[in-house]
This record gives sequence, structure tokens and C-alpha cells, in this order.
Amino acid sequence: MADSDVCKSCGKEVATSARKCPHCGQPAPAKSRSTTNKKILTGAAIAFVLIGLIAGLGSSGTSKSTEAVFNSGVDGSVAQVDSWFRTNLNDYDSLKVQSWSKVAKAGDNFMVRVRFRSKNALGGYVLADKIFTLDKNGAVIGMADAGAESQIDIKPGPP
Ligand SMILES: [Zn+2]
Repeated sequence: MADSDVCKSCGKEVATSARKCPHCGQPAPAKSRSTTNKKILTGAAIAFVLIGLIAGLGSSGTSKSTEAVFNSGVDGSVAQVDSWFRTNLNDYDSLKVQSWSKVAKAGDNFMVRVRFRSKNALGGYVLADKIFTLDKNGAVIGMADAGAESQIDIKPGPP
């Protein structure tokens, strides 16, 4: 027998083309070398594709902006600061943002300056000019006055 191999079940010699092992009845018994080589090649091809994908993801991660903090394309707002307003402002419904600065990177952190008006606890409008600091995950970690003179209490309306 020129084209023979060993049965993968019983280990006896079988024809490569045999559909069933004549010794133990194992279907497709031959451990064909060509099949084995094909499997190795397929494995190598898959590995190359995976390596390519990983490399591709890595490079796209550095070239494309995937920052956690960014200005909305619609109104320039910053989602994390807006949700900070929602939980921390005395009266979120009264909030009127006058301007969002462009998000700036400061080391690993982000900074954004926001000028806004909102009602304080007394019901008077307060104009504020704040610089928010957010960490690399987008959590607000600090808030500071952009300028002392910018914080003006606006007179509450007539009682
Ligand atoms: Zn067999």
C-alpha cells in the first residue's frame, strides 16, 4: 500500500482513502499528513489574521480620538459635566449654559471651562465661570472658579 497511514483510533495500518478502519470500524481513520499540514496552515493563517487585527486595533486606537471627554458635536456640551450639573446644581432646570470651552488635555486629565447661569438656593440667578477637571475616565475630579470677578450674584426678581 503506497498511500497508507495509521488509524487514529486503533493505531493499525489503514489505507489513507479508507472511509472506515477495517480493524476497529473507526470512520475516516487515516491521520493523513496532508490534512495535518492543512490544519497547521489554517491555524497559521488564522494567527496572522488575528495578529493583523490586534495590530490594526492598536494603531487605530492611537490615531483616532477615542477620548473619554469631548465636546458634543451638537452644542459643544460635555456629557460628564452636564450630568455633574444634574446631580450637583441646586436647580438643574434653571441651568443656562452660556459657553462651553473646547476640552483641553492636561496631562492625563481633561479641563473644560463653562460659563453658566443657574438659580441658587435663594432663587436668585448666579452667573458662574468654572473650570472643571475630569480624569481620564471622565469623572469630574475638580471644579474651580475661572476668575473671582466672574462670580456675580444676579439680583433676584421682585418678591
Ligand atoms: Zn482502527
